[in-house]
Amino acid sequence: MSNVLVLVDHTGGKVRKTTAELLTIARRLGEPVAVFIGDNVQDALPALGQYGATKVIALTDPELTQYLVAPKAEALQQVAAKIEPSAILISSNSEGKEIAARLAVKLDSGLITDAVDVQEGPVTTQSVFAGNYSVQAKVTHGTPIITVKPNAATPEAAETSPEVEEFDVTISDGAKTARITDSKPREATGRPELTEAAIIVSGGRGTGGDFSPIEAFADSLGAAVGASRAAVDSGWYPHAYQVGQTGKTVSPQLYIAAGISGAIQHRAGMQTSKTIVAINKDEEAPIFELVDFGVVGDLHKVLPATTEEVTKR
Ligand code: FAD
Repeated sequence: MSNVLVLVDHTGGKVRKTTAELLTIARRLGEPVAVFIGDNVQDALPALGQYGATKVIALTDPELTQYLVAPKAEALQQVAAKIEPSAILISSNSEGKEIAARLAVKLDSGLITDAVDVQEGPVTTQSVFAGNYSVQAKVTHGTPIITVKPNAATPEAAETSPEVEEFDVTISDGAKTARITDSKPREATGRPELTEAAIIVSGGRGTGGDFSPIEAFADSLGAAVGASRAAVDSGWYPHAYQVGQTGKTVSPQLYIAAGISGAIQHRAGMQTSKTIVAINKDEEAPIFELVDFGVVGDLHKVLPATTEEVTKR
């Protein structure tokens, strides 16, 4: 069986859910080999083994994490030269996409970004024009390099005990062009990560800038908070929480949109949620075309009342 490289997406060894999704997809294509960059590989091992990594290649050279992106692409090129994978899967975040693009040039290979599904072949599905079209594509030259959006697959466990192989890489001076001078985690909110949450409560322009009922309701449910672009552009909530075409793609079990009209660009980021609930004071709002449950009402009344009810239970 051919090897499929998966670049591990992690923070200090804590593996993100997107990696479990990539490993699940990789098992459809061949034997998943995880590439871990950083020095906490032991912390990542249980999660990588849980989702079927057959081997973990550890790249611990500190220069890989001291500089932006370019050294990582060089390192992956060297790993690919040794492993000769049949495909390379990378998470579709800003760093992942830049690594993938650089790697595609280095390997003279085809690149597909933002796949929402990958099946045997590998044949990818991309969702384009704000979710109005879905495009199937296949790399026809070199090693397929595919960046995969969060929630493209449901992580399926397949217990393995992967061995760790340390791999030495050589980083050229040309790759050391942008040094990281500082890096700090975003202030912890105590809420789940937006793309990993089972429940999301999102607020839009209808909040009028007051996200406290959204946050209180989210906290009563153990949910993450999201926002529409109108709310983000108004400076009411940080961009990191924007859901939609130019924000995050989410696919939780339950998505609650409060004071959000349901513009196509917002739908593009949340329409695959399993259950959708909307609270909107305009019964004609387009979001109601999409929902499983709708509440016509003022979110400033509906949400506090619901939060109180949930908290009582
Ligand atoms: P509005 O459309 O103004 O809707 C507000 C809603 O709140 C209304 O339906 C109103 O009835 C309701 N409301 C008002 N007061 C209350 C109340 N008290 N209680 C309950 N309901 C109330 N948008 C995104 O969200 N994400 C994206 O990633 C994104 N990317 C974009 C990319 C491009 C290229 C473009 C052109 C646009 C993009 N947009 C995106 C913007 C998108 O087109 C909409 O403008 C935006 O989603 C509207 O946000 P909203 O629903 O919060 O605001």
